[in-house]
Amino acid sequence: MKTGKIIDIECRCGTMLFRYFKAGKGRLIKCMINRLTEDFVGLKGAATFSRPLCPGCGRELGIIMMIHGQPALKLNQGTIKSIRI
Ligand SMILES: [Zn+2]
Repeated sequence: MKTGKIIDIECRCGTMLFRYFKAGKGRLIKCMINRLTEDFVGLKGAATFSRPLCPGCGRELGIIMMIHGQPALKLNQGTIKSIRI
């Protein structure tokens, strides 16, 4: 059985970044781009190894990597604040 929940991802400055379906438990380390349910910063279509920025404060959100052939955002833990909903 596949379990998970939708979480809102915000920057520490309070800007809403995206909404993500997180499978399983534990801390969010990386986000598979194809599991975003809302994308407010244009992560879909971002180039591999690009570093998306928060539109609010300009901090780096992390880096886009390929994981198992799928694009994912490896989160910069210093920038991201996640909220379960
Ligand atoms: Zn910000």
